[in-house]
Amino acid sequence: MEGWEGGEPAIGIDLGTTYSCVAVWKHDRIEIITNDQGNRTTPSCVAFTDVERLIGDGAKNQIARNPANTVFNAKRLIGRRFSEVMVQEDIKLMPFRVIQGPSDMPKVVVTHKGLEQQFSIEEISSMVLAKMKEIAEAYIGGTVKNAVITVPAYFNDCQRQATKDAATIAGLNVVRMINEPTAAAIAYGVDNKFGGKKNVLIFDLGGGTFDVSILTIDGEGKFEVKAVAGDTHLGGEDFDNRMVNYCVEDFKKKWNKDLTGNERALGRLKVACEKAKRILSYDTQTSVELEVLLDGIDFSMKITRAKFEELNMSFFTKCIKQLEACLADANMKKGSVDEVILVGGSTRIQKIQRMLHEFFDGKELCKSINPDEAVAYGAAVMAANLCGQTTKMIKELVLLDVTPLSLGKEIIGERMQVVIPRNTPIPTKKTMNFVTTADNQSSTDIMVYQGERTRSTDNFLLGSFEISGIPPAPKGVAVLEDCFEIDVNGILTVTSKVVSTGKTKSLTVTNLSGRLSKRQIKKMVKAAEKFKLEDQEFKRKAEACNALEDYIYDLKNKIKRNDIPPKDLKNVQHAIDDTEEWLSTGNVASVDEIERKKEILEFISRLAIF
Ligand code: ADP
Ligand code: MG
Repeated sequence: MEGWEGGEPAIGIDLGTTYSCVAVWKHDRIEIITNDQGNRTTPSCVAFTDVERLIGDGAKNQIARNPANTVFNAKRLIGRRFSEVMVQEDIKLMPFRVIQGPSDMPKVVVTHKGLEQQFSIEEISSMVLAKMKEIAEAYIGGTVKNAVITVPAYFNDCQRQATKDAATIAGLNVVRMINEPTAAAIAYGVDNKFGGKKNVLIFDLGGGTFDVSILTIDGEGKFEVKAVAGDTHLGGEDFDNRMVNYCVEDFKKKWNKDLTGNERALGRLKVACEKAKRILSYDTQTSVELEVLLDGIDFSMKITRAKFEELNMSFFTKCIKQLEACLADANMKKGSVDEVILVGGSTRIQKIQRMLHEFFDGKELCKSINPDEAVAYGAAVMAANLCGQTTKMIKELVLLDVTPLSLGKEIIGERMQVVIPRNTPIPTKKTMNFVTTADNQSSTDIMVYQGERTRSTDNFLLGSFEISGIPPAPKGVAVLEDCFEIDVNGILTVTSKVVSTGKTKSLTVTNLSGRLSKRQIKKMVKAAEKFKLEDQEFKRKAEACNALEDYIYDLKNKIKRNDIPPKDLKNVQHAIDDTEEWLSTGNVASVDEIERKKEILEFISRLAIF
């Protein structure tokens, strides 16, 4: 592979809720890689049909026709438990089926090639990642293994680990996971040639998530995260849904008919609303128009930008609230922010820009970096840097990130004892001593939680384990030392030690309940490979069929132009009819069979040409 100095190429992938983007360092700069459709971002969408699996644009384009088998928004479910309230709320809006799998993990159920199939969320995400890998490989002209993958800063441990598992299933080696806003800051920093020390605020509002981050860039390649805040459930999709609801009400008012429950109609409405929303970012008025939406009724509704803003004002205000919280956590006044950087497709919404402009007392917002590409761009810079592709532009990147949520364990009275407070720089290691709470207590359960609430059970349970073999002692005497350690990827390991004996036991998120086991991942890797082969086979078959049909078309033209001698005409015509009939019987043939049919046809016609 020419042009890949300093080892194997490593790519940067922004795995978004709605769109994903891949970039690579080449010829001393970052290239955003276009997909096979010529687009620089690819819908994070996977579809299953009677004959094939589609990923990306192909999947999104058929969504209205095939809503039950087109999976999107997997990022909203990844690393979560089926029974979580958020998940339940989300599922209601998803036109595909989501069920409760083993260990409370959500699973997607689709019909593929006529058979019902179940997939874990990790598998669905792995399909999107595999597509991004393929896009990069087509551009680079060789295999790609190493990748930096970004996750929202606000992702908890389970969500991070599940994303990592998805990458493994896709055949990728994750050299580092970095937070999306940090990646965007790198893109900004590189773009600005590290011009001096600055406080930057990244405001990333995408399709499903909202992230806000405050960093200090020192001008030498050091990126220090001061604080992060956000909402893993706030973004463009929510704005679309509000619009859809508004249309549903309008339809009910006008026609006294209910669209809810009709997945196909809702799917079409959603596509139309998203389009209208984009138009409202530059126009003050547009309309949502759909022919034959329900019971032969055409739907048409005008919507103004003001109405759109009114419908979503509560979401916009939520963004500003998070912004304030982030500034408070960073211990920074808004006047100290040197640059406000907009990231994510939804920051194109005028009202958001206006609200930010006002919040920062009339400050100009930075728009020099592309909001759709900044995250992948920064990830690719990091990837190149980690894989030794240093250049004049980036010597060495030093990322000092923070943990987005407090980590701790449950103590007596269902209380959360924080061991690592939120916004602590990572990697980090903190130990805390605890004593037994009963006489002669020989074991204790360590329940590890993540979150900000005082009652432990209001937070997210990451996992638990039991430490036993505590020597008999009166209550409050035996000491346990709990060590919480977060690595550079933001993944946590908790180790508990009985101080008097030195006995330890530990837990990493990789072996938490509700996570995929190594064996399951291995199985999924195999399944993914099989899928890839099937996709390739389908493509080859389609190509072979096309070639055969083209050849028939040519032959028919030859007959029309009298290029076939009359004595052979019957023979050739018969061969054509025969082949066409064979083709029309369905999709059961293999590539070999199709090619053989073409060869036969070629042989017969070659004999016949003058
Ligand atoms: P994610 O990172 O969550 O996948 P993106 O940053 O790619 O999301 O942003 C996608 C979201 O941005 C979608 O909800 C899309 O509708 C929205 N979006 C894209 N362009 C515009 C626009 N011009 N106006 C308003 N919203 C937009
Ligand atoms: Mg994004």
